[in-house]
Amino acid sequence: MAAMADQYGIFNQRADVIGGITMRTRDVHGAMVKPKLAFVSINADREHLHGYCFPMSTNQTLIEMQQLMLRYPTGKVALSGISLAIEQGGFVYLTGESGAGKSTLLRMFYGGLRPSSGQLSVQQLDMRSVAEGDVRELRQRTGIIFQDHRLLFSRTVFENVALPLRVQGWEKERLVPRVRKVLEFVGLDDRLWSYPEALSGGEQQRIAIARAMAANPPIILADEPTGNLDEDTARRVLDLLMALNQYGTTVIMATHDLHLLSSHPGRVIQLHQGSLVGDSYG
Ligand code: ADP
Repeated sequence: MAAMADQYGIFNQRADVIGGITMRTRDVHGAMVKPKLAFVSINADREHLHGYCFPMSTNQTLIEMQQLMLRYPTGKVALSGISLAIEQGGFVYLTGESGAGKSTLLRMFYGGLRPSSGQLSVQQLDMRSVAEGDVRELRQRTGIIFQDHRLLFSRTVFENVALPLRVQGWEKERLVPRVRKVLEFVGLDDRLWSYPEALSGGEQQRIAIARAMAANPPIILADEPTGNLDEDTARRVLDLLMALNQYGTTVIMATHDLHLLSSHPGRVIQLHQGSLVGDSYG
C-alpha cells in the first residue's frame, strides 16, 4: 500500500488535523502546503488507500437536472422548473428562505423522493426510473449529515461511525483503522468509546461528519449542519466540510446562514418558493 501511495506522493503529505481543522497539509519538510490537485484527480484503487478521502476524478457532472418538478402527495409543489448541473469536486450552498425547497432537493439527490416530472440524473442514475436496489447502492455512495445529526445515543462513537461500513460488509481489519482515521480527521479520535450524550453539540456534529465520510462517498449532502450551533462551532464544522472538499469530495450544503460565506466561499444556488432564482460564486 505504501509503495502505491508513494507512487502518487500521497504520503509525502501529512494532513494537519490538530484541533480537527484540516485546510492545509504539510510536505516532507513540514512546510504548510495546500493539498495537491493531483491528489484528488488520480484514478488509483480507492479501496486500498487509507487516506481521509480516497482519490477520485474531478470535473465530471455528478448531478444534472432539467425542468425538475416535485409535487408532494398533498398536492404541494415544492420544486418546479429547476435546471442545473453540479460537477464532481464542487462546494455548493443551497440557500433560500424556510420552505424554499432546500431539503426537498437534497432528498432527491439520494433517492428519498423521485421527480414528479422533468429529468434528474445523480451519479449516473436516471432518478425517474431507478430501481430500489440501485437507490440502496446510491445511498451507500452518499454521505448525509442532518441538522440534528441523528446519532444513535445507545451506541459508542466508534459504533456510530462504523455503522455505514458494517452495512457495506467491511471486514474488521479494514473497518477499525478506517473508523480511527476519520475520527482523527474530525479531531475526536480520543473519544472512540464515549457515548454521544457525553459530547457537546459541535462534537456530535463532527461525529456525524466522520460517519458521513467513513465509506468515502464521492458526495456529502448536509442539511443545515450548522443550524443548531453557535457561530464559532459552526465555522469549525464548516472548516471540516471545506477540508473534505479539498480532498475531492463534492459537498452540497443547505443553509440559510449566508454570513458563513464570507469566510467559506463556494457556489451559491438560491431557491425561492421552489424555483431557482440565483446561481453564482461568492
Ligand atoms: P426548506 O428545506 O427550504 O425549508 P422544504 O424542502 O422542507 O424547504 O419544503 C418545501 C415546501 O414543501 C414547503 O412548503 C414545505 O411545507 C413542503 N413540504 C415539505 N415536506 C413535505 C411533505 N412531506 N409533504 C408535503 N409538503 C411538504
